[in-house]
Amino acid sequence: MGIGFEELKKRRKKMNIFEIDFPEEKRIEDVKKKQRLSLPDFVFNEFKKKQYGIYGHSGVQICEWTKKAIRNKGVCYKQRFYGIDCHRCMQMSPAIAWCQENCIYCWRPMEFMKKTSFGKKEVDPPENIIRALIPLRRQLLSGFKGNEKINKTLFKEAYEKFPSHWAISLSGEPTLYPYLPEMIKTLKKHPEVKSVFLVTNGQEPKMLEKLWKENALPTQLYLSFEASNKKLFETINKPVYKDAWKRILKSLELVKRLPCRRVIRYTLISGINDKFVGETAKLLRKTRADFIEVKAYMFLGFSRKRLMKENMPTYREVLGFSKKLEKAMPEYRIIDKQRDSRIVLLRYDRSRYENIIKGKKQGKT
Ligand code: SF4
Repeated sequence: MGIGFEELKKRRKKMNIFEIDFPEEKRIEDVKKKQRLSLPDFVFNEFKKKQYGIYGHSGVQICEWTKKAIRNKGVCYKQRFYGIDCHRCMQMSPAIAWCQENCIYCWRPMEFMKKTSFGKKEVDPPENIIRALIPLRRQLLSGFKGNEKINKTLFKEAYEKFPSHWAISLSGEPTLYPYLPEMIKTLKKHPEVKSVFLVTNGQEPKMLEKLWKENALPTQLYLSFEASNKKLFETINKPVYKDAWKRILKSLELVKRLPCRRVIRYTLISGINDKFVGETAKLLRKTRADFIEVKAYMFLGFSRKRLMKENMPTYREVLGFSKKLEKAMPEYRIIDKQRDSRIVLLRYDRSRYENIIKGKKQGKT
């Protein structure tokens, strides 16, 4: 049973660990000096500690599931649900520490970046980012060399081949990157790339329209959405923009029309947003998204400074909420689940996409 906001505030106050204080002027100074957007040293070091490969304002990290796959210890739910290659995944972001939201459930240290717009002059062109992250990813994988307990074939593919799956998510908000259409088009043209997933918080609907207009939509678009009303949204996602609620509603409306695979990811936080089935169903039905993922909030990373372990739902609670959602949305059906990721997948009956991504063609209009 999760704990509500009032109790959370009391406990947090007692623990006095909520506010994270970072020197503003040091950050601004860094950006001015270098013209090219990059991370101030103390932030750079934070990410390095977490095994990120950093190139300017972009970064890559080897996902725990990719490591598990190489050790034959299982694959991520996206391989199970959608057939992506977990061991050949490039988990990256072109906006590694910039976001217009400060979601309380986010495991990343989002508190220290307030910048929410990127000028074209201060960012790296997509081909430079792609070219720079490949060797950084290889470096991060090199620790597996000489390890007898790994699946050598999978490791060889992961290490030597161009990543076949690009997860543009990792950290920060990728739609802040002004060359995102060019980046996605470049990746989708690459013969080795089978799938490109983009995860967004929906705060840049204009970028979603741009991706559409420039025929640069990803294979699968994720919209993170976990608050069915404005008050809850402001409490959970702590947006920077004054018109943030309007922006997420605009993105939800766009989802209905975008000609690519569309997923709504609902992060379930016990005691916070697990009581809003009716309201959530009403909003999500309008999107006609192909898939809805109900995923447990995980008590990880920096989110432990904002939430309590009790806010992390069990798999049973995720399944219970998903069944109620399925009941409230007759045109959606639960089609799969993965216990260790505490996630349940619902599919829209009239979706033109099967859940498994067959080949490059799938997802093209
Ligand atoms: S698709 Fe996501 S979960 Fe799967 S390996 Fe890549 S980053 Fe990890």
